[in-house]
Amino acid sequence: MSKKKAKKQNTAVILAEFFLCIAIIAAGVYFIKGAVDKSKSVSSTEPTEPEIVAETEPPTEPDPMENFDTYDAKSKDMFKGDLILVNNDHEYKSDGTEDLVEIGPENEKTGRYYVNVVQDDYKILSVVYEPMADMMHDFIEATSIEDVMLYGTYRSTEFQRELYENDLAANGSEESTLVAKPGYSEHETGYAFDFTTMTDYDYDGTGEYAWYTKNCYKYGFILRYPEGKESFTHIEYEPWHFRYVGLPHATYMTRYSLCLEEYIDMLHSYTYDGMHLEIIDDNGQNYEVYFYPADTASETTAIPVPKDSKYEISGNNIDGFIVTVYKDEFSAAPEISEEETTTEESAGESPEEVTEENAEEDIEDIEE
Ligand SMILES: [Zn+2]
Repeated sequence: MSKKKAKKQNTAVILAEFFLCIAIIAAGVYFIKGAVDKSKSVSSTEPTEPEIVAETEPPTEPDPMENFDTYDAKSKDMFKGDLILVNNDHEYKSDGTEDLVEIGPENEKTGRYYVNVVQDDYKILSVVYEPMADMMHDFIEATSIEDVMLYGTYRSTEFQRELYENDLAANGSEESTLVAKPGYSEHETGYAFDFTTMTDYDYDGTGEYAWYTKNCYKYGFILRYPEGKESFTHIEYEPWHFRYVGLPHATYMTRYSLCLEEYIDMLHSYTYDGMHLEIIDDNGQNYEVYFYPADTASETTAIPVPKDSKYEISGNNIDGFIVTVYKDEFSAAPEISEEETTTEESAGESPEEVTEENAEEDIEDIEE
């Protein structure tokens, strides 16, 4: 190695060492500064404002999972329950498990002899019998008229088929315009009944009989085919045909003049994850209602249900379940509030959305 070369190498080593030192010192300063900064923010008694906001700002929606459990329903049970929509587009899929009572014997058992029925062996769902009988009782109390009679109640699909085929034969046509196809009549569900009068077999819901149209929601019933809703129901106004849907739903539909087609469609927007529909009935009782889609890929659907409140689940006969939460089942019902007046006023309002043309266009002359 030459002397010159050795000196050059030595200089390079010194330079390298120098820069290494600088690097080490810089790193040290950086580390200490970081530690000081960190200790500053940790020891500071006043955290910066944005941090507080981020941590304590309430979420826009309360966490829905907090007070909820899940209930494993059979997915096919979306075709069952008092909110099922049965019409020309949505067939009733009976599994033969309807809990029916024969009206004549049930009258004897309960002493409700005022529940007139055209034939004693006519049946209705047991859940419908009592509110129906209560309503008929209160009508007599209010009007002293005793000639209202049940004319059409539950029909088996076979009976509906018989009615349908008789009508085809009588009219010589291929499709009945008077009788619903077997499988598509609300009467096959057991949730519906028709009135007539014993004096002239002509119940039209006018005069004193308008009491039923006005008050049926208080017993959980709706007039299923209201005037002005023909474009939704595809069935002409039938003042005699009542359908059980349960008190909170009947109250809401009557208050806002919605037919079942509109209501079931509307409930799709009140999902479990989103806003729930809040209903307060005439007695001040609170309900919460939401839709949960059926898991059609699976045999069961895990439906979120409240942990502490009473609830009911009904299918909608289309695509899922409707959960009705009875938010204060155990609290005493206060006296009728002023809401009663509002309800009755709004119930009488004429429908706005249906124009006469489209109503006429869509009416099919069906005797459900
Ligand atoms: Zn009917």
